[in-house]
Amino acid sequence: MATRKKAKKPASVSRKRPETDDKFWETKDLTEMNQSEWESVCDGCAKCCLHKFIEEDAEEATVQVEDNPELHYTNIVCNLLNTKTCSCTQYEKRGKLVPDCVTLTKENLKDIYFMPPSCSYRRLAEGKGLPDWHPLLHRGKKSEMHKAGMSVRGKTVSDSDVNLDNFEDYIVLWPLEDE
Ligand code: SF4
Ligand code: SF4
Repeated sequence: MATRKKAKKPASVSRKRPETDDKFWETKDLTEMNQSEWESVCDGCAKCCLHKFIEEDAEEATVQVEDNPELHYTNIVCNLLNTKTCSCTQYEKRGKLVPDCVTLTKENLKDIYFMPPSCSYRRLAEGKGLPDWHPLLHRGKKSEMHKAGMSVRGKTVSDSDVNLDNFEDYIVLWPLEDE
C-alpha cells in the first residue's frame, strides 16, 4: 500500500488594496510585483488552508502536481481559519502555531503547484489571468467569490473535529475546480 504524507499548507496572505497602477496583474510578472501588489493577488479563498495529502513517491515531482491524481484534497480545514470570512484568525502568529503553514512568496514560487488550480497566484503563473470573481475586480470585496462558490465557506470540517488518519473519508474534488 502506498504511503502518504501530509502536504504542507501554503498560507494565504493578507488581502489589502494595492498601492499601484490599475491592472498591474496584466502587465507585471509575479516576480515583478511590489509587496502590496503581491498580497492583493491573494483572493482569500482559503483553499490553501485545507489539508491535502500527497503520495510519498510523488513528493519531488512538484512541477507534475498539476493534474496529478496523487494529490488529494480534503474538506478538512485548519482550525485557525474563520470559516465564515475565510480569513486566518492568527495571521501574524500562523508560522509558529501551525508549523506546516507556509506562506507563498516570490522565493518559494516552486510551491505554487501545491496550490489549487483556482489559486490566483497559480492562475497568473500559468498565464490564465484573474477570474471574474476576484476581489481586485470588485473593489476588494470577497462576496462575488463566495457567490461563485470558489471559497471554502460552508464546505469544511475543522481539523479539531476529525481524526486526520481517516483523511480518505474526507477527500473532495471541489477544491480542484477552477471556474
Ligand atoms: S489558494 Fe491562493 S489565492 Fe486562495 S487563499 Fe490561498 S494563496 Fe490566496
Ligand atoms: S494557520 Fe491555518 S488558517 Fe491560518 S493561514 Fe495557515 S493554514 Fe490557514
